[in-house]
Amino acid sequence: MVRLPQVLGALIMQKVQVVIIGSGPAAYTAAIYSARANLSPIVFEGFHSGIAGGQLMTTTEVENYPGFPEGVTGPEMMQKFRKQAERFGTKVLAEDVLSVDLSQRPFKVIGSKTQFLAETLIISTGAEANRLDIPGTHEGEFWQRGVSACAVCDGAIPIFRNKELYVIGGGDSAVEEATFLTKYASKVYIVHRRNELRASKIMVERALHHPKLEIIWDSVVTKVGGDSVMKTITIKNVKTNEETTRDAGGLFFAVGHTPNTAFLKEQLELHPNKYIKVVPGTMQTSVPGVFAAGDVQDFVYRQAITAAGTGCMAALEAERFLESLE
Ligand code: NAP
Repeated sequence: MVRLPQVLGALIMQKVQVVIIGSGPAAYTAAIYSARANLSPIVFEGFHSGIAGGQLMTTTEVENYPGFPEGVTGPEMMQKFRKQAERFGTKVLAEDVLSVDLSQRPFKVIGSKTQFLAETLIISTGAEANRLDIPGTHEGEFWQRGVSACAVCDGAIPIFRNKELYVIGGGDSAVEEATFLTKYASKVYIVHRRNELRASKIMVERALHHPKLEIIWDSVVTKVGGDSVMKTITIKNVKTNEETTRDAGGLFFAVGHTPNTAFLKEQLELHPNKYIKVVPGTMQTSVPGVFAAGDVQDFVYRQAITAAGTGCMAALEAERFLESLE
């Protein structure tokens, strides 16, 4: 039996070669490559994790992206990525994708206003750095005025130079970010809620023996204060309940990331940490014709340049996949 609404739904859905979900460096690089291959990509830029443009939209100065010797702000860089994608015919939709149906190709992509049938799909919805609900750390308080969730992106800016900086977390990211910050800070403290780091052995050794790094065990941050920028941090020892307030030039969250994969409803194979699984050395997911690029499949590097590189790979693989169908 054929149900009428389904037929009507299918009739009004436009069939396209490539749909890209996301609006960070991976998504726009995939769009540039597929647009230049005459695949007329559709980009759903989405607002799921805040403003469109991905994590770079909340980054101040980007100094490690090759080709920008003077540095560039995150938002300016994403504007350039988008403009370049549009120059070659990418259609950018200011819409979230609500759901996808990957059970058969072409894949159904249901946006908040429009729907498409996509021969190939590139998922680059990124990941969000987790933040904790600590007074003083929110938007309109000291967020991006001393408080950050990315040391590699923000650590080198002048407000952090020669200051005592704090990192919350006990994993590889916390140690890596803290070690990175020692280049600029007078001293870096890792505040960890337990008395043992979760980080890998080599990272733990590095943290314990670094002359500019100290770990504050069994402790949590309870408050951040300041004037125009962050100036103080309050730390509570969870065993003794003793609270101390100290001078601090910055606070960095390193309490893990959450990939934006919930909308997939487990239609693709994911790692236990919910990142999308790709075939090693490719961007191919567990469903042929569906590719993943950028942070949504990467929990190791997480850089704009690596995201862009995987966006390029996903687009080339999508193009080859379409050719193989002909
Ligand atoms: P992670 O391993 O999940 O560590 C998150 C840390 O945040 C944990 O130490 C956790 O404490 C702490 N935390 C979580 N919620 C908290 C809260 N509410 N209050 C206080 N602390 C809280 O995340 P990650 O460090 O980002 O690493 C993610 C993955 O990427 C890992 O597989 C890691 O190995 C990998 N990675 C690798 C490298 C590298 O190889 N160079 C670098 C970075 C990341 P508990 O320990 O008490 O749970």
